[in-house]
Amino acid sequence: ETIGENLRKTVEKYPNNDALISVHQNYRATYKQFYQEVIHLAKSLLADGVQFGDRVGIWSPNRYEWTLVQYATAEIGAILVNLNPAYRVHELKFAINQSEISYVICPVKYKTSAYKKMLEEVDENCISLKKAVYLDTADWENLLKKGHTISDAQLEEAIAKTDFDQAINIQYTSGTTGFPKGVTLSHHNVLNNGYFIARRLEYTDADRVCIPVPFYHCFGMVIGNLACTSHGACMVIPNDSFNAEKTLSAVEKEKCTSLYGVPTMFIAELSLDNFKDYNLSSLRTGVMAGATCPEEIMKRVQSEMNMKDVTVCYGMTETSPVSLQTKIGAPLKKQVATVGTVMEHLEVKIIDPETGKTLPIGKEGELCTRGYSVMLGYWNNPETTQQVIDASRWMHSGDLAVMDAEGYVSISGRIKDLIIRGGENISPKSIEEFLYTHPKILDIQVIGVPSEKYGEEIMAWIKLHQNVQCTEAELLAFCKNQIAHYAVPKYWKFVNDFPMTVSGKIRKVEMREIAIKEIV
Ligand code: ATP
Ligand code: MG
Repeated sequence: ETIGENLRKTVEKYPNNDALISVHQNYRATYKQFYQEVIHLAKSLLADGVQFGDRVGIWSPNRYEWTLVQYATAEIGAILVNLNPAYRVHELKFAINQSEISYVICPVKYKTSAYKKMLEEVDENCISLKKAVYLDTADWENLLKKGHTISDAQLEEAIAKTDFDQAINIQYTSGTTGFPKGVTLSHHNVLNNGYFIARRLEYTDADRVCIPVPFYHCFGMVIGNLACTSHGACMVIPNDSFNAEKTLSAVEKEKCTSLYGVPTMFIAELSLDNFKDYNLSSLRTGVMAGATCPEEIMKRVQSEMNMKDVTVCYGMTETSPVSLQTKIGAPLKKQVATVGTVMEHLEVKIIDPETGKTLPIGKEGELCTRGYSVMLGYWNNPETTQQVIDASRWMHSGDLAVMDAEGYVSISGRIKDLIIRGGENISPKSIEEFLYTHPKILDIQVIGVPSEKYGEEIMAWIKLHQNVQCTEAELLAFCKNQIAHYAVPKYWKFVNDFPMTVSGKIRKVEMREIAIKEIV
């Protein structure tokens, strides 16, 4: 079914349930109201000349209009292109040209960034771009006025053209390992994924889900929005961008039952000075995903944030995104130390990246996914698509994983991040997990840096708890006789922050670039 068909079912069942709350904008809508707004915006876009298959860019931080645009474009079969709010002229130009965007919706400015100015600068170099609509201005109001000129019958006609397996979304990958790639996704891809994620979270129409992760990324728009709307649950937007205090106060105020985040967001929340002041008793579940979820942090989220049933998801934009998720009620060790089991109606396998052969249980190799969630392809890029989706439709992830006898998978990192020191394969994750147990360490990232002698040497970047002093010698002593001598980092760097993508992922590529300059 299409996203619109699915939404109509939910609206029929739960018209008076809260659908969408944007705390920072003071906006609230029930499912009935939300649907009316979506339909009206769909008409408005039609009236403004947006047609089936047109690419509509949304370049905006989290706000309720983002979600309206997501559902309205899907109704009329326009292809929504998620533009990262951190994009600046260079990236914007690239994405608009690459996806041939004709219509952009964005705020005039966001914090200190003048979006309108940047878009005007880009305009001359982007021939596809015909129109920009600025939120918070008369533009948006005028657009909505135009909606009244379209009849229900005209909208019906547009909706009738849409089909479940047609492209409705282009999302750029996080750009963690290189330049972002435009992933083309269909109704079928993302709607099913959202639905089955919600099933693992045991969502009902009583759930209220706090979404501090960006909408421009699949974590927000699929694991967040589509999981909610397919079950009649409520989407709660705490703020335009991530803010630990505002997230927890939104949970408290809106009595959220579920909370999302990448590991660094949960770390930030847990380390707030006034953490204990927030009443989190309404929480029961949530999702941690996007990067390695340290066991320590999982345990603290369960016990200190009242999220006994927190789940871990593993996924990538190319697979809509989720392939693996833990199940509520699984044994504790599996909940905190694995990314769970394969999602319903999908297949995963672990292969030897060299030979392509499936590996036996317990052996580490490259994770591959097959099934409904695999993207249609990279937009306008069949060569790169062919490099990752093979002839038997398996999507090759570039991530290393191990499966146990019960089907639980552990992710050991990206193939590209694996450190090879003097011929020894060293997983940064195992060193990170070990050093997390040091009481002074708040967060840690381990990378390989070039070395003439060993090929690569290990470098650890350390974020300490507030007001704590620590020396390299102390950490070396901590490692002694605890981890193999070759796994002990040679370089230690104390930092306040790691280089991150807007989706909250640590950019090890950039860490390596910085490290290389510092070492030589
Ligand atoms: P790019 O492809 O542009 O380099 P990216 O891969 O970070 O960026 P995304 O599609 O947002 O872009 O992220 C998918 C990746 O995130 C996965 O391939 C995996 O490396 C990592 N990841 C996601 N979930 C988990 C998890 N639970 N544990 C460990 N790693 C995860
Ligand atoms: Mg990737």
